[in-house]
Amino acid sequence: MIINNPKGTQDFLPPLSTQKSYLENTFRKIAQLYGFEEIVTPTFEHTELFLRSTGLTTDIVTKQMYTFVDKGNRNLALRPEGTPGVVRAVLQYNLKLPIRLFYIGPMFRYERPQKGRYREFYQLGVEIIGEGQPEAELELIDLAMRYFRELKLEAVVTKINSVGCKVCRPQFRNSLKGFLTDNLSKICEDCKVRAEQNPLRVFDCKEDTCQAIYQSAPKITDHLCYECQKHFQTVLEGLSKRKLPFELDKSLVRGLDYYTRTTFEFVPTGASELGSKDSIGGGGRYDNLVKDFGGPQAPAIGFALGLERILLCLPKPERWRPLVFIISLDEKADTEAEGLVHKLRDADIPALKSSQVKTLRAGLGLADTLYCKYVIIIGGDELQKKVYTVKNLVDRSQVEVAQDKLIEYLKATL
Ligand code: AMP
Repeated sequence: MIINNPKGTQDFLPPLSTQKSYLENTFRKIAQLYGFEEIVTPTFEHTELFLRSTGLTTDIVTKQMYTFVDKGNRNLALRPEGTPGVVRAVLQYNLKLPIRLFYIGPMFRYERPQKGRYREFYQLGVEIIGEGQPEAELELIDLAMRYFRELKLEAVVTKINSVGCKVCRPQFRNSLKGFLTDNLSKICEDCKVRAEQNPLRVFDCKEDTCQAIYQSAPKITDHLCYECQKHFQTVLEGLSKRKLPFELDKSLVRGLDYYTRTTFEFVPTGASELGSKDSIGGGGRYDNLVKDFGGPQAPAIGFALGLERILLCLPKPERWRPLVFIISLDEKADTEAEGLVHKLRDADIPALKSSQVKTLRAGLGLADTLYCKYVIIIGGDELQKKVYTVKNLVDRSQVEVAQDKLIEYLKATL
């Protein structure tokens, strides 16, 4: 019996696995350009960590967390997101602030699987801990946009909002609660619970009827305190100055409890396999989380991108590999092929040779199976003329290349 992968998980087979590595390596490169260093934290943590950060009333904690008790009776959870583990590690090891960290790794949420929504998925995230100025928002959004540009994913807009702070949010919460009480008979059952426990979360509701009602609900953006308003205004002006495209979205509250002030999401605007409502990433400020965890008063901000969702927005990767396959047609040519395969690898050109191949036909068949882009054929004729026959398996064209010009030729074409 063949056992399949569990529901909601994904196998990354080649060439998708190669595209995944490319996305990760490019993210590493860009994050380092902005002064971030990589942090790797465990994929599971004490459940309590997420209860105290992501939040007791969030969908992630109440419905989606993979929790278990281990053999030592510890309550553990597969991490549903990266920020709590990073903040924990910063405090546990007393790392100096401010600090810029990035992470890449799998996250786990028990969600209804669909395109772009999985139970195990990869996030690429950054955190700046210990910087409260609007400059931090601009750095992060600029970084994300540079990353998307590098991936040739040009059409991405930043939706942005401010959810206020400990000063202005409680007042707003009350006025929103009043509005929801007045409309209680018209909203869905989930929103009735949200109205009671965490009213701001109603804006995340997927029901069209609820959304129509919330059009006329009070919006936090219109009720910010002076400090939050000034901060948000500076962020928006900075985005305009840097020519970073954004849309103000007063309903953008995002699903986590610890957000303060700026929240944002990256939404692709071009045609793609991704649903039109899905974001490819999101983040925000969390100015109180470090303190709530027992650390110093250190404002912070971060975002996480969904790797699978970015993949859905990019063209499908090519199956052909930039790999050269050498076929030798007799024993003398075999010796030449043996030397050549190492010479190519020394020149950073991926190359393979097989001594099992007895005929040209069999060799070409094997090269096709291995998705090699180029085949180099060496026989008596080639040895005498000091050339190699180079066949391009993608367009099936064939040329003779002088032996001493081969590396140059392959470097220019691979
Ligand atoms: P969040 O951590 O909920 O703020 O999500 C940040 C990003 O992670 C989203 O914009 C998605 O790109 C990605 N993401 C969140 N949940 C999932 C999921 N279940 N499957 C795939 N990607 C996800």
